[in-house]
Amino acid sequence: MKEGMSGRKHGAVTPCAACKLLRRKCGQDCVFAPYFPANEPHKFANVHKVFGASNVNKMLQDLPMHQRGDAVSSMVYEANARVRDPVYGCVGTISSLQQHIHMLQTQLAQAQAEVVHLKARQTRCNSNLGLSPNSPTNSCSPSSKIMGSYAKPIFDMDMVVDHAIYSDSIWS
Ligand SMILES: [Zn+2]
Repeated sequence: MKEGMSGRKHGAVTPCAACKLLRRKCGQDCVFAPYFPANEPHKFANVHKVFGASNVNKMLQDLPMHQRGDAVSSMVYEANARVRDPVYGCVGTISSLQQHIHMLQTQLAQAQAEVVHLKARQTRCNSNLGLSPNSPTNSCSPSSKIMGSYAKPIFDMDMVVDHAIYSDSIWS
């Protein structure tokens, strides 16, 4: 209480979000001040709720200065995830992303298998038509013309009529 009172007495020095929440004096050497500015009070609130201020303090002091920013980002992310999802926290996000990766890898494998299948079919088709590898287009067009003439409607009609007569002769 005394510390809180004296901190407020300084007036000019705004305590960082951590010290404000913990109601303690925010000194020049405050380990939280660079990462928990006064204008982002929620940032520290969740970290304190999940990890505890003294643990965060210890973790930051064990780290070299240049790694503390990343550590704070990680703790803030994990704490927010834990508050959103108290059971799984950020593990829930990680496992859902892993599932997504697995699903996409399966789709990719299916697409690759289809490509291999289509390539094999194309190669088989070309070899059945007796194509020379140098002129596949020239050899392919006459074969499609033959196919077209087979599909002529008149020819089909003749077939149907012939078949009908044949059937009648059998039935009578
Ligand atoms: Zn502070």
